[in-house]
Amino acid sequence: MADNAALLARRDRLLGRNMSLFYQDPVHLVRGEGVWLWDADGRRYLDCYNNVPHVGHCHPRVVEAITRQASTLNTHTRYLHEGILDYVERLTATFDASLNAAILTCTGSEANDIALRMAQAMTGKTGVIATDHTYHGNTAAVSQLSTRMPPVGGFGGHVRHVPAPDSYRPLGGAAGEAFAAAFAAKVEEAIASLEESPHGFSALIIDPFFANEGFPDLPAGFLDKTVAAVRKAGGLIIADEVQPGFGRTGTHMWGHQHAGFVPDIVTLGKPMANGHPVGGVVANLDTLNGFRKAFRYFNTFGGNPVSCAAAMAVLEVIEEEQLIENARVVGAYARAGFERLAAKHALIGDIRGSGLFMGTEFVADRKSKEPAPEQATRIVNAMRERGVLMGKIGVHQCSTKIRPPMPFSQAHADLMLSTLDDVLSGL
Ligand code: PMP
Repeated sequence: MADNAALLARRDRLLGRNMSLFYQDPVHLVRGEGVWLWDADGRRYLDCYNNVPHVGHCHPRVVEAITRQASTLNTHTRYLHEGILDYVERLTATFDASLNAAILTCTGSEANDIALRMAQAMTGKTGVIATDHTYHGNTAAVSQLSTRMPPVGGFGGHVRHVPAPDSYRPLGGAAGEAFAAAFAAKVEEAIASLEESPHGFSALIIDPFFANEGFPDLPAGFLDKTVAAVRKAGGLIIADEVQPGFGRTGTHMWGHQHAGFVPDIVTLGKPMANGHPVGGVVANLDTLNGFRKAFRYFNTFGGNPVSCAAAMAVLEVIEEEQLIENARVVGAYARAGFERLAAKHALIGDIRGSGLFMGTEFVADRKSKEPAPEQATRIVNAMRERGVLMGKIGVHQCSTKIRPPMPFSQAHADLMLSTLDDVLSGL
C-alpha cells in the first residue's frame, strides 16, 4: 500500500494546510487513459468527474501535438506565429458571428478577470452582478464574486448577488415562466441598486448552465427576460463557459447556445486543452480593441505555440470523434438509468443535467425536499471506495456532480449506475 499519510504530511509541510482534496481517503493518482485512472497501488478507477481531460486522459492526439510543438518552438507571445491565429480562427467559427475575436490566457480566472475589465472599458462603469452560489475564479477581482469565501473586508460596493436558480426549489415556489420572471426581477433590482450607486452597472456574469449552482434543469428561454433587462440597462452579458463549454451539454458546443442567447463576452478554461493550462476570452473585435485601449493587456504565456497546438488538437478530436453527439446519447442513457434508480431509492429527490453533465439530488424526504448533505458525502466516498470517482455540488451540497471525460460510453454509464445502486442499497 502506498503511504497516503506520509504524502499528506509532506503536502502540509511543503504546500501549506487547507489545500482542497477530494474524499475522506484521498486518491493518489499516478496514471490516466481515456476515462480511466490508476492509483499508486495499481487500482483502476472509472473517472466520472473530470472535465479537464475533456477528450480523455492522455489522449494520444493531444500528447502528440504538445510533444511536436514543444520540440519545435515555444516562446512568449510577442512574436508572430500562425498557431494562435489558426486556433482562434477555428475556435471563433463555433460561435455566433458577433463573437469573432479572442484573447488567450492560462486559466479561467484570468479570462473572467479580463471579461470584467472589458465590460468596464465598454461601459465606463464597474458594477457587476453574479449569483449567490457561484465561483468564477481566484484573482482578487473575481474572488469578489464568490459567496463561499467572502473577501476580507466584505464584498465591494460594486458587487450584487442574485439568488442562484434552483429548479427543484424554484424562487417563490414558482415553476416555468414565473420562475424565469422571478430571476429576471432579482437581476433588475440589482441593476437598479448599482445604477443608484457610484459604480453603475457594467455586467452580469453567469455560467449559462449554472454548474457551480448545481446545474438546475431550466425551462427553455429561462434567461430571455434577464438578457433583455441587462441589454435595456446598457450592460454586458458575460457567459462563463469554463464548465459547460466544448460540447459537454450534448446539444450544442456552448452552454449559452444550449440556453438560447448570445452573450457579449464568453470566457473559457478547464477543458480547452485537455489539462494543458489554457483559457480564453471570446468577444467582438470592437470589444477586444476597447479593452486593449483601456488596459494594454499582455500575457507572457497565454496563447503560446504549445498551448495553441494542444487546444487545436482538442477541437479536432471533439469533431472527429463526434464527442458532442456521444455526450447527447450517453447522457440521455445515463439519465434513464437514474430514473430507474429513483424508482427504487427514495433518497434520490431530483435528477438533472444535460449530456455528460448530470447528477442526482439526495433528500431526506421527497415531500419536504429536505436536503441530505451527509448522505451525499457518504455516497460519494462509498463510490470512491468501489472505484468510481464523482463529486458533490449544489446550493445544499447534496447533489452528485458527474462530468466525465467526453468519450464516456454506455458501458461506463452502466458501471457507474450499478455501483450507485449497490451503494444506495447498502446505506
Ligand atoms: N469559472 C468557473 C465556472 C469555474 O468553475 C472555475 C473553476 N472551478 C473558474 C471559472 C476558474 O478557473 P481556473 O481554476 O482555471 O482559474
